[in-house]
Amino acid sequence: MQLTDSLGRTINYLRLSVTDRCNMRCSYCMPAEGVTRKRHEDVLRYEEQQLIAETAVSLGIEKIRITGGEPLVRAGIVEFLSRLANIDGLRHLAITTNGLLLDKMAVDLYEAGVQRLNVSLDSLHRETFAAITRGGDLDRVLSGLDAAERAGFPPPKINMVVMRGVNDGEILDFAELTRSRGNSVRFIEYMPVLKEDAWQRYCISGEEILQRITAHHTLEHVCKGAFAGPSCDFRIQGAQGTLGIITAVSGHFCGECNRIRVTSTGQAKGCLFSDETTDLVPYLRPPDPAALTEVMKRIVMAKPKGHHITSNGYEHKNFTMAQIGG
Ligand code: SAM
Ligand code: SF4
Repeated sequence: MQLTDSLGRTINYLRLSVTDRCNMRCSYCMPAEGVTRKRHEDVLRYEEQQLIAETAVSLGIEKIRITGGEPLVRAGIVEFLSRLANIDGLRHLAITTNGLLLDKMAVDLYEAGVQRLNVSLDSLHRETFAAITRGGDLDRVLSGLDAAERAGFPPPKINMVVMRGVNDGEILDFAELTRSRGNSVRFIEYMPVLKEDAWQRYCISGEEILQRITAHHTLEHVCKGAFAGPSCDFRIQGAQGTLGIITAVSGHFCGECNRIRVTSTGQAKGCLFSDETTDLVPYLRPPDPAALTEVMKRIVMAKPKGHHITSNGYEHKNFTMAQIGG
């Protein structure tokens, strides 16, 4: 079954956040004190998230990414993932993680049936990494990447949020990882979700990131797969990994948006930057699969055509990415 929105876009991808909590405090994602802790009863139980996942797959979703906050800090996550991996019709199960717990958990995640890992990594220098993440340990993340490959995963995809004056000097080093380690690397435009003071100084467009790479490398275009989503991919000749640029702010990839999102408290969003959410809790407590199916169809049909943020104007209310899951 194919799920299509009112504009004819195929919607085959669900991003499901399982927690707002995190063991890092990335400066671009959440305030130093972290996010206000949700009441235990407000966070969806795994059975409820499983029903959302099953309903989504029955409607035509083929790929689910588990995100957060940091998904690996939630107790029972491995068991939950193995239940998701067994959903009939789900073709692709992935996680986005900061990698801090991967050295301990990679084998369990692989055995649970997770197929792909995306690891967020914004600097290869210990001090810069610690400054961006407010104390994160780079060596643990790097050993987590190694542990993932030893466990049997393909080289994890690396997500780097590029910020001018912070880590933009490392763009070429990250591009090099596609050759030296075989990771695919996606450069993400910094999104001013927290609207920090003078946030504009960090913004660096996907176009400029690409120019900086092409000044040193000849890139070939890589065809995108069915779930590729909003990035253009390239390859440095001979590299195993690919390069992608996520131009969430400047590029307006909305025309090819293929996803919906559900937060850990059951708020469904058709667009990351839209203030519109639909509360799924009434359809989960008590569970009403038929009504949930109908409301999820409506969310897809109501997906907006696009967002209106640019690096100059920014209209939506501020939020933390950890609440939505990126
Ligand atoms: N904790 C996990 C992690 O960091 O990979 C998953 C959740 S995190 C919110 C998901 C993604 O959102 C990460 O790749 C992170 O870099 C990205 N992200 C968070 N805040 C962002 C921002 N202001 N601009 C661009 N990307 C952001
Ligand atoms: Fe945590 Fe991920 Fe946000 Fe960093 S980007 S604070 S690791 S949720």
